[in-house]
Amino acid sequence: MLPRILLTVLFGLSYFTACAAAEAQFVPKRVDAVDVVVAGGGSAGVPAAVQAARLGAKTVLVEAGFQIGGNATSGGVNFPGLFHAWGKQVISGIGWEWVEKTVRESSGTMPDFSVPTGRWHWKHQIRVNIPTYVLIGEELCADAGVELRYYESAIAAEAITPDSPDPDASAKARENYRWKVTTAAQGEVRVLYCKQLVDCTGNGALAALCGAARMRENETQPGTFNYKIKHHIDLNKLDKEAAQKAFEEALRDGRLEPGDARGGIAAFLQNSENNYVYGADNSTAEARTETNLRGRRAALRMLRFVRSLPGGEDAVLESMSPDVGVRETYRVEGEYVITHDDYVSGRVWDDSLAYAFYPVDLHENASGVHPKHLQEGTVATVPLRALLAKGVPNLLVAGRCVSSDRLANSALRVQATCMACGQAAGAAAALAALQDAAPSELNVDGIKNALREQGAIVP
Ligand SMILES: Cc1cc2nc3c(=O)[nH]c(=O)nc-3n(C[C@H](O)[C@H](O)[C@H](O)COP(=O)(O)OP(=O)(O)OC[C@H]3O[C@@H](n4cnc5c(N)ncnc54)[C@H](O)[C@@H]3O)c2cc1C
Repeated sequence: MLPRILLTVLFGLSYFTACAAAEAQFVPKRVDAVDVVVAGGGSAGVPAAVQAARLGAKTVLVEAGFQIGGNATSGGVNFPGLFHAWGKQVISGIGWEWVEKTVRESSGTMPDFSVPTGRWHWKHQIRVNIPTYVLIGEELCADAGVELRYYESAIAAEAITPDSPDPDASAKARENYRWKVTTAAQGEVRVLYCKQLVDCTGNGALAALCGAARMRENETQPGTFNYKIKHHIDLNKLDKEAAQKAFEEALRDGRLEPGDARGGIAAFLQNSENNYVYGADNSTAEARTETNLRGRRAALRMLRFVRSLPGGEDAVLESMSPDVGVRETYRVEGEYVITHDDYVSGRVWDDSLAYAFYPVDLHENASGVHPKHLQEGTVATVPLRALLAKGVPNLLVAGRCVSSDRLANSALRVQATCMACGQAAGAAAALAALQDAAPSELNVDGIKNALREQGAIVP
């Protein structure tokens, strides 16, 4: 038996080693100070970061995932719109640059915007090649000097002042940095001090860490899982009635579930995007896991069903998007909340920074979507105040979580509008950082001029 004193020494040593290891985990591996931090590299985040960097702000774009584009790439919704309204372009700028270069460098085609769409608004959406879109977006970031950080997301955000108890934070606050953001990056803890924050996470995830109020409904609009089943069924020869009967039988006996193929089997065989994932939510890890599992289980059900049809025996699941497309979660409450009335009346404010054009497009669980088109000549706008988190200075928000009521948001969430708002938020964040001001104190004409210099169309 070891003498008691030796045991005590050994125990003490191991205790101190364990404590030191635990403490080391929370010592940031990297500390940086920048002007602007943009969280989320989707339709809103990329133009926000590129615009901020082009104005000379030192900008970091923190993206939790593995590629930029967000729902347009990882969700497979690769048809941004709408940039044109009533015969003229209403959204341009950095988002348009991104789309236009992608189309050019992938031998894609642009719709003929001079032909009115009538009620088929989607005809003016632009199909982009997903891998090229990612590459062009990354190039735009690199050329502008944006530091792009994948696999990283914020775990805490604290507004700092010269009186902050943490001496490092108070020293940074004396240099006019306003935020201390702690992030996790592949198991590493990091700290980013910055002057302005822009939340483009789609969910207001960063805004929540900053203490901003968020709004959401009791139910969410259904999501859609983009996957493709390659079947070899000749749709001209298919006995559609028999196939539909088999489909309904499978729904009755539980081999398929409601939402798996909304428009019936013939429509599904033409376009397998035709599905709903009810209750889709990606605002927590659990909800996102469950949403993706449900979307993928539906794809497997449909694959098995298609393989059971005559001619479908060799069907294969050709591709599927990394994520289920989620239409609705949180919206951040801003200094102004855009209402449905504002949207459909095309209201313009003194601080309107972007146009927005799309039908009101609420997907309902029971009845699907019935787009409500704007009246001829009407184009909505987005004011700066809808991009400023209410009561939380130096925090901007753009993209799907823009401050708006539910119906207005069902239109404002589309990609071209997210891009225009992202660019506007990026300009305001950069100017505020460079002038050591709050975005609400900026001269609005100064923001408009900065946007026009980058090709944006400003109301
Ligand atoms: C099924 C479906 C069909 C649609 N159809 C159309 C259409 O036809 N045309 C159209 O224009 N729009 C369409 N939309 C809407 C549009 O695609 C989205 O609303 C839009 O892409 C949202 O852009 P965003 O930049 O706000 O968010 P996202 O594109 O969701 O990007 C957010 C990014 O933030 C990242 N992120 C999230 N949390 C964090 C965090 N904590 N830290 C760091 N990064 C984070 C995500 O990984 C993601 O890359 C559709 C949407 C869906 C779901």
